[in-house]
Amino acid sequence: MYQAGPDGPIIMGKPQPAISQTAHELHFRSLVIDTHVDTTQRLLDDDFDLGARHADGSIDIPRMREGGVGAIFLAIWIRGTVTGPEAVRRALEQIGAVRREAELYPHELTLATTADDIRRARAAGRIAILIGIEGGHMMNGDLETLREYAALGASYLTLTHTRNTDWADASTDRPLHGGLSEFGKQVIGEMNRLGMMVDVSHASDKAFYDALAASHAPIFASHSSCRVLCGAARNMSDDMIQALAAKDGLIQINFHMGFVSQEFRDAERAHPEIDRQIEEEITRLCGENAACRLLESDRIIRQFVGEGKLPVVGREEIIRHIDHAVKIAGIDHVGIGSDFDGAEMPYGMEDASRLPWITHALLEKRYSEDDIQKILGGNMLRFMESVATAARSMRGTTA
Ligand SMILES: [Zn+2]
Repeated sequence: MYQAGPDGPIIMGKPQPAISQTAHELHFRSLVIDTHVDTTQRLLDDDFDLGARHADGSIDIPRMREGGVGAIFLAIWIRGTVTGPEAVRRALEQIGAVRREAELYPHELTLATTADDIRRARAAGRIAILIGIEGGHMMNGDLETLREYAALGASYLTLTHTRNTDWADASTDRPLHGGLSEFGKQVIGEMNRLGMMVDVSHASDKAFYDALAASHAPIFASHSSCRVLCGAARNMSDDMIQALAAKDGLIQINFHMGFVSQEFRDAERAHPEIDRQIEEEITRLCGENAACRLLESDRIIRQFVGEGKLPVVGREEIIRHIDHAVKIAGIDHVGIGSDFDGAEMPYGMEDASRLPWITHALLEKRYSEDDIQKILGGNMLRFMESVATAARSMRGTTA
């Protein structure tokens, strides 16, 4: 169904044009930052080698190189049902797994936490890897644990995953706290002081507005798309995107087929048996192995698409979301947070090597080179710097 051709990829039997030389050059001289991938789950598998090119999944060093990736945020993630000290233990284990990659590949990767770290990695010809904690449940209700994560190099905390935490409501759970609890607001304050970025992807609308009001620093959505184009509860409404931008925040567009295409969502909803079949099949094949579950569910969904039970979602959908967010929020407030290795990617955007196409498509839409560079990573660098500046001013230091 998908194979690399001499020109562009072949999608469902149709060859795609190669990207233009101008796009290629622009892309490879830009700092490309992807603020959310779930590859960490694969790193837990001793047999997985990030340095080798893989036929499955979306991320490894060779394909990041082919895609011109300058920096990537690896999510630390465990199911929301795992809580307490066990959640902390597993989060620390995953942080350790990410840090180990930088040690294993010192000529390819650099562990980074700041915008300057990313620029330095780039100057040295390395890919910056950063850490994001995807879900406040991994804090175990303890600010000291949050401080420990920050000290180990975690750059952001996503307030919730798909379930509520003890202090924040998730967009895909029944409201429990009416947004953020008082402790939740304290968490935001501590993140501001530590210079950790507040990530509102997955949070409920009310939790988003509460976080926006409580935060002294700009906040961002590390991997969310536009709800007006695709009605997933965890996508952002136009009002939310504009409120985020008004406080100098960012929306980093998620590529997942079910978050960018309403047609795909409708088809999934019309066939609830597909979800059940996938659940049964991945449980049979993978048990609780999260990396295996993600890869297998992607494979099975593509099988359903091949059989015509689910629609083909093309990579143009990603551009539609970027373009909409730019129109309503302004060019300074949009970027990319693919969700590679954690979601189903549109056809033609199967892995990191396909990222230069984004630059090609934006040029075709008559975006200026400066504007494209902002979307690819410039906005994220500015955002990281403003979060760091806010932290310094809260701590009353200049360094
Ligand atoms: Zn997520």
